[in-house]
Amino acid sequence: MSADITPPKTAGEPAAKHLPDGELIRFDRVTKRFGKNTVLDNLCFSARPGKHVTLIGPSGSGKTTILRLLMTLVTPDEGTITIDGENLYPADRRHVREVRKNIGMVFQQFNLFPNMNVLRNITEAPVRVLGLSRDEAEERGRELLDMVGLGDRCAAKPTQLSGGQQQRVAIARALAMRPRILLLDEVTSALDPELVAGVLDVLRDIAHTTDITMLCVTHEMNFARDISDDVLMFDSGKVIESGPPEKIFTDPEQERTREFLSAVL
Ligand code: ADP
Repeated sequence: MSADITPPKTAGEPAAKHLPDGELIRFDRVTKRFGKNTVLDNLCFSARPGKHVTLIGPSGSGKTTILRLLMTLVTPDEGTITIDGENLYPADRRHVREVRKNIGMVFQQFNLFPNMNVLRNITEAPVRVLGLSRDEAEERGRELLDMVGLGDRCAAKPTQLSGGQQQRVAIARALAMRPRILLLDEVTSALDPELVAGVLDVLRDIAHTTDITMLCVTHEMNFARDISDDVLMFDSGKVIESGPPEKIFTDPEQERTREFLSAVL
C-alpha cells in the first residue's frame, strides 16, 4: 500500500537517498504484540519523501505503536521496517542514535524542560547532539520561534506559556534537529479547544512550506483533509482502507470507516 507517487516539493533539506521506488519509510508485514494482544497485524504501508501520511481510526487500533516503532521505543515481533532502505531492526545503540537524528516526534504532552527558557529548550539538543555552536543554534532557534509565532517569548519559562504556546515550542524543538521525518501523535488532544487552531495552523504551514515527511496521528479530520497526501484508516491493528483524503473523507468504501468518521466529524 503506497502513500503517494510524486517527488518532494522542494529541495531545501538533504534529499532522501532515493531508492528505485522512492520510498522513505516502509513497513513490511509488521506484527507487534503486547502479551496476547496483537496490536499490529501483518501491517504493510509505505511513505515517500516529503509526503504527509495521516493515521486515523479508533483508540487502541495501533496508530501510536507505529510511531513508537519508528522511534525504536518498542520492537516489532515480526516483519521489517526500513527507513531509506535500511533496516531499523535489530537496532543497536549506534543505529538508534542515527535513526533518531533523522526523526522528530511531537507528543500529546509537550515535555519541555521546565527549568530552561524557551530558547534554551530549542537549542540544547542541536548543540549537544548535532554539535552546533551556541550562536548557530540560537540563530536557528529564533527563526523557528518566529515561525511558530513565539519570536518574542525566547526568555519565557514553559510555565509562563499557554498549552498551545508550549506545544508550538515543542514543534520548534523537533524542527531544530532538522529531521527528515516528523512524527505527530495527537498533538492537540491535551489542549483547550481555543488553543487547537493556533497549533494546527503552524503544522499546516510546515506541511505546505517544507519537504519534511510527516506521519500524523490525529482526530482533527479537517486538518487531516488539508495536509494529507494519503490517509490510512486503522481498525484492530490493520489498515482497513487507505487513499487520498478526498476519497476517504467523502466516499469511503468501508462501513467501519463511515461509522468512525460520522462519530468524529
Ligand atoms: P492508538 O494509538 O490507535 O490509540 P496504541 O498504539 O496506543 O493505539 O495502542 C494499541 C494497543 O496496544 C492498545 O490496546 C494498548 O493498550 C496496547 N499497548 C500500547 N502500548 C503498550 C505497552 N507498552 N504495553 C502493553 N500494551 C500496550
